[in-house]
Amino acid sequence: MPKIIPDVLKNLFSKPFTLKYPHERKEPPENARGKPIVDREECISCKLCEKICPPKAITLDEDDKPIIDLGICIFCSECADACPKGAIKRSGEYELALYDRSKAISK
Ligand code: SF4
Ligand code: SF4
Repeated sequence: MPKIIPDVLKNLFSKPFTLKYPHERKEPPENARGKPIVDREECISCKLCEKICPPKAITLDEDDKPIIDLGICIFCSECADACPKGAIKRSGEYELALYDRSKAISK
C-alpha cells in the first residue's frame, strides 16, 4: 500500500483549516489596525495627524479636521498613536473594498 494512503484518509475526514469566507468570518483581534475612525468632536485641529501620516493620506477640511483617504492609507495607526486627544481610533473594520473610489474616505 502506498505510504500516502493513511494521510489521504486522515485529511479526507478531518475538518478544513480554512473558513468559508465570506459566509464565515473571524473576528479581528483586539486593537487590530483596520479603518481609522475620526471623532470630530474630540479633535482640536492641531494638524499633527496630517504631518505624521507616512503616505500623506490625511488632508484637512475647512475646520482643520482630518479627512483620511483610505485608498492611500496603509493602516499603520501612526495617526491614532500621535493624536493628543485620542480623536483617531483604530477600528476592526477591514472589509473596505469598494466600486466607487470617491467613497474611500474616513472623516
Ligand atoms: S492629531 Fe488628533 S486632534 Fe490633532 S488634528 Fe489630528 S485628529 Fe485632530
Ligand atoms: S493609519 Fe497610517 S497611513 Fe492611515 S491615515 Fe493614519 S497615519 Fe496615515
